[in-house]
Amino acid sequence: MSNDTNYRPSPAVIKKLYGFRNAKSLGQNFLKDPAVIESIIEGSDIGPDDLVIEIGPGMGVLTSAAAEHAGRVVAVEIDSRLIPLLRDVLAVYENVVILNQDIMKTDLAALIREYRPSPDRGCVRIIGNIPYYITTPILMKLLEDRVEAETITLMMQKEVADRIEAVPGGRTYGALSVAAGYYCEVCHIADVPRQCFSPPPKVDSAVLRFDRRQEAPAEVTEEALFFEVVKAGFGKRRKTLVNALTGMRGLTKEEARGILERAGIEPSRRAETLDIPEFAAVANEAAAYFAERS
Ligand code: SAM
Repeated sequence: MSNDTNYRPSPAVIKKLYGFRNAKSLGQNFLKDPAVIESIIEGSDIGPDDLVIEIGPGMGVLTSAAAEHAGRVVAVEIDSRLIPLLRDVLAVYENVVILNQDIMKTDLAALIREYRPSPDRGCVRIIGNIPYYITTPILMKLLEDRVEAETITLMMQKEVADRIEAVPGGRTYGALSVAAGYYCEVCHIADVPRQCFSPPPKVDSAVLRFDRRQEAPAEVTEEALFFEVVKAGFGKRRKTLVNALTGMRGLTKEEARGILERAGIEPSRRAETLDIPEFAAVANEAAAYFAERS
């Protein structure tokens, strides 16, 4: 292994050296295109005092690039077979910590407290070329837990990125678009063709950056109810809103109609036509109605 910190062995070289066999079940499609690696690192805006948390470092190609810019990188990898390999590949970086654990079971708040290089300087940035099979659960965990990260930059299946970036009225607009837009501003960093990975996955990918909003895009009196309304609306997306909301917390059709009318929303509209402030208006009317009813 070279001592040159700019030396980044390709996944093919590392695989050969370690006799590694990809675990399909863990979504192991390793990045091999340096331009894509650069776009993720540049798009993440990493500074010298920042803590970078990387989800699924794999063979360390993104980790080493991040380590050259960050104060510290904590790389969380579930596959124990990759740990010795990562230790070797990343040995030249004194600012890298490798943890062998499942990101879904990781207490990120505790991790940030423990590893942040400076409590009063720098930001927390999360990056990852994450496995397709858990893209949505990981993203929702990061958003709902309000992880204290200024930016989250993730590679994901193009189709999931399209759903996140969708605007009202479109076929792909749904609960995921509303959740992402409620918590963050979403920035499209790159489209990534399947040939940039080894082995190539069956679909193309995209990199999105999620910037935590300082203020919600609409005033919501009860967040849990807001998401319940969104879920009920899109759960039956072919139905009109009045029908989709009937039954939610025991609402009759007339009660649902009343809530929508007081919120200024035509009951015959469908969820896919509502923007975030309109969902908030419905949720706030519902909250007022439930408070009065109880
Ligand atoms: N970052 C590397 C790259 O870009 O080449 C690897 C990307 S590969 C698509 C996804 C990585 O996430 C694999 O190394 C896999 O073992 C790891 N992984 C899968 N599920 C995980 C989980 N629940 N927690 C942490 N790592 C996970």
